[in-house]
Amino acid sequence: AKRSGRGRSVVYASSLGAASRRMHTVEQALREGLAQGQFELHFQPKVDARSLQALGVEALMRWEHPVLGSISPGEFIPAAERCGLIHELGVLALQQACQAARELRELNVAVNVSPLQLMDPGFVSSVERILRGAGVAPRLLHLEVTESLMLEDAPAALKRLHALRELGVQVALDDFGTGFSSLAYLRAFPFHTLKIDRSFVRSLTEHADARAIVNTIVKMARVLGMRTVAEGVESERELAVVRAIQCDEVQGYLVARPMPLTKLRDWLAGRPV
Ligand code: C2E
Ligand code: CA
Ligand code: CA
Ligand code: CA
Repeated sequence: AKRSGRGRSVVYASSLGAASRRMHTVEQALREGLAQGQFELHFQPKVDARSLQALGVEALMRWEHPVLGSISPGEFIPAAERCGLIHELGVLALQQACQAARELRELNVAVNVSPLQLMDPGFVSSVERILRGAGVAPRLLHLEVTESLMLEDAPAALKRLHALRELGVQVALDDFGTGFSSLAYLRAFPFHTLKIDRSFVRSLTEHADARAIVNTIVKMARVLGMRTVAEGVESERELAVVRAIQCDEVQGYLVARPMPLTKLRDWLAGRPV
């Protein structure tokens, strides 16, 4: 028993070592990747739930490293947050998104924003500068934030969100339904849009109680003047339920996967208007 116990701890130690080596490798590579232009936004359409007409896109960062291959945002975003490069990566995302917005005309472009970016006192003016530089109407830029933001410093976060609203930028609450005090946040800040997390969407077709909860959320959002987006819709069945509860917009593999701007152009050209 002792021997197997020791064996296990050796395994733990070496896999921990591998994980922290990987973390170190990724953090090192981030700096160079930023300098060498290895990051590129992809875009996933958001469409009207009824007509399926395209209303906007969500910008999602992609990283293709020449040696390490493609690294997922689930890995490099936390790494960038740990080593302080999230601000630089965030500016890059805003710049690329605004460039795309110029040619997408009336389609809005939603950019994910890390809580650390919102905590930066210079964030709002940098958004303003980037919008002005690209000549993009502020209402076309949507910023997606998560509830975790409020856990850091709620008053500072609210101040920043209000300043962004003043600027004319739209703010969406992302991953709704995965946090704890969602309802309190909705009362504290009037988001323009509520994005219902795909784990919630998945459970819609399976559990009547989940449907009742999401149904209530959508109604409540409407009362508060917010639009609702169902994320991660993968099947016709899910789309049917999302329509039944009168969600405004859908996004997910059923409609389209995230794609580079060149592909998006073709995708949009092939759609009925
Ligand atoms: P998110 O903001 O919740 O983005 C939605 C994620 O769901 C994306 O993963 C997207 O590719 C994926 N997705 C979309 N439709 C479906 C579907 O039908 N089924 C399934 N299974 N997945 C779907 P992705 O691109 O890997 O991004 C993961 C997370 O990384 C994002 O979650 C976001 O939190 C973060 N992220 C991505 N780009 C950026 C960025 O530029 N800045 C920041 N701060 N975070 C980013
Ligand atoms: Ca998002
Ligand atoms: Ca989300
Ligand atoms: Ca997420």
